[in-house]
Amino acid sequence: MKKISILIPAYNEQEVLEQLYHRLGKLANDNKSYEFEFLFINDGSRDKTMQIIRDYAETDERVAYVDLSRNFGKEIAMIAGLDHVTGDATVIIDADLQDPPELIPRMIKFWEDGYDDVYAKRNSREGETWLKKLTSKVYYQLLQKATHIEIQKDTGDFRLLDRRCVEALKQIRESQRYTKGMFSWIGYKKKEITYDRDPRAAGQTKWNYPKLINFAIDGLTSFTTAPLRISSILGLLVSVIAFIFIVVLVVKTSLFGDPVGGYPSMMAAILFLGGVQLLSLGIIGEYIGRIFNETKQRPLYFIEEYHAKSSKKAR
Ligand code: UDP
Ligand code: MG
Repeated sequence: MKKISILIPAYNEQEVLEQLYHRLGKLANDNKSYEFEFLFINDGSRDKTMQIIRDYAETDERVAYVDLSRNFGKEIAMIAGLDHVTGDATVIIDADLQDPPELIPRMIKFWEDGYDDVYAKRNSREGETWLKKLTSKVYYQLLQKATHIEIQKDTGDFRLLDRRCVEALKQIRESQRYTKGMFSWIGYKKKEITYDRDPRAAGQTKWNYPKLINFAIDGLTSFTTAPLRISSILGLLVSVIAFIFIVVLVVKTSLFGDPVGGYPSMMAAILFLGGVQLLSLGIIGEYIGRIFNETKQRPLYFIEEYHAKSSKKAR
């Protein structure tokens, strides 16, 4: 019997876990031809999330969990999960039920047809503000232009991955992770299905704008060096303009003398150049920061406790 692992990163999700567990249970009961594993990743929750998961695990041997030593963020929670899934295929799903588990049988069907990565694209984004929709649209267009790999629009982490995709992802040990790009980067046969994304069933979103901006910059800098190229081109352009301007100045001064003046143009040039220089330095800094973080080669996460059917409780 083939085994499907459901990977659920959870951070302070006590309000939704019961509903989620119920719907996953139903999924498993409706698809008896597969064995299921529900692998919860507790990402350092401060509420009762871990207690609830532990309760489920005690009575239900399909439930496994990885309890991380602190909150590492969803990206790291996902790789921690991928490191521990045991299924022939893995479905990554949000704990808040924004991704309906009822879609999973369709994903499994396509997987059986030979697809390695069946991802769910959302039709609507109910319960999200227009600002979030707009910024995400602009961002993805930008990202798409700047990178050579195709990054799926309106697609989250809700997808089914074949074992070999999981093995591929496990080999990518970057610490500042942009998993969404990695799904594309590893390749393999992809299949898109669409769905309507529901609003969060309960609880609060963990995203805020500073977090999203960081995530967006991580996305750009981890998959493309285009910003570096742009700053080089900008530097070149400014140099050419400056050179022409110098020639004009020299000719003008030698023909017509040098009446003092030109304060506004001087200020404009200084401010513009200062701006361009700071921007370029910032861009270079972003990449140096990444180099710094990656060269430390720290482990991606630490585990407080891992529990699964066959494993002994280990600390
Ligand atoms: N999550 C996590 N660690 C975090 C933040 C979020 O594991 O630091 C999980 C969270 O429990 C949920 C998923 O990531 O299962 C998506 O989070 P959320 O619903 O807050 O994001 P949104 O749907 O608003 O993008
Ligand atoms: Mg959500």
